[in-house]
Amino acid sequence: MHFDTPDTRNLPLKAEQKIRLVRFLELIGDYLRDGHAQQHGAYTGMDDPVPVLPVAETLPRADSLEVLEAEVRECQACPLGRNRIKAVPGEGVLRPLVLVIGEGPGAEEDASGRPFVGRAGQLLDRMLDAVGLSREQNCFIANVVKCRPPNNRDPQPEEIAACAPFLARQLAILKPRMILCAGRVAAQTLLHTSEGIGRLRGQVTEYQDLPLLATYHPSAILRDESLKRPAWEDLKALRARLAVLDAGYARDQGEA
Ligand code: SF4
Repeated sequence: MHFDTPDTRNLPLKAEQKIRLVRFLELIGDYLRDGHAQQHGAYTGMDDPVPVLPVAETLPRADSLEVLEAEVRECQACPLGRNRIKAVPGEGVLRPLVLVIGEGPGAEEDASGRPFVGRAGQLLDRMLDAVGLSREQNCFIANVVKCRPPNNRDPQPEEIAACAPFLARQLAILKPRMILCAGRVAAQTLLHTSEGIGRLRGQVTEYQDLPLLATYHPSAILRDESLKRPAWEDLKALRARLAVLDAGYARDQGEA
């Protein structure tokens, strides 16, 4: 489907919002009906603060991480593409036990093209290691947006919407057993809420029939040591659920 693209710059706010809503709904409709892999969304700009991800099961079957990563590296679907050094599609194993989702690349990730490689990334690796997980063996690490927001600001809703098809495709390709949202932005995006991370963390909920747990972003833990203990409680909850989901993991963790 091709969209007419009226110039919305001089429209009153409500009219512009309606046009954005129609574009967004048309985009999601295309995904559900045709499995379009290339189209990228637009934020509705209305009361709803968080864009909706397309449903993973309806996305193209002949998709692969290699195809997706090549598209991410070329993508200019939102303004974040203009200023990046490197896009950061994500890394880890296929069919991971856990898909870890952060908010977006920082400076070191932007420079290297790899997710979670700075101090926060090292802490994330240690957190995962404490419960028998790693990006080398049984996790995949991705972000809600694949290009660095300037000055490490939060990604904007329209940027999240534009990048959402990539995350939806990663879910469809990877088929993780569970999702771990690292931080507020990822949790709010997947759970489609504006609730704070303090309320969202620590309880296993569901995203498209997958168990989802949210915890604090490692950067937040580095800034505030008092978050270490609740983050550890979250990791224990993650380990307990994974032990139910996967007998091999349960054996390795001595929970069989
Ligand atoms: S953040 Fe996502 S949608 Fe925006 S340019 Fe990068 S890959 Fe494309």
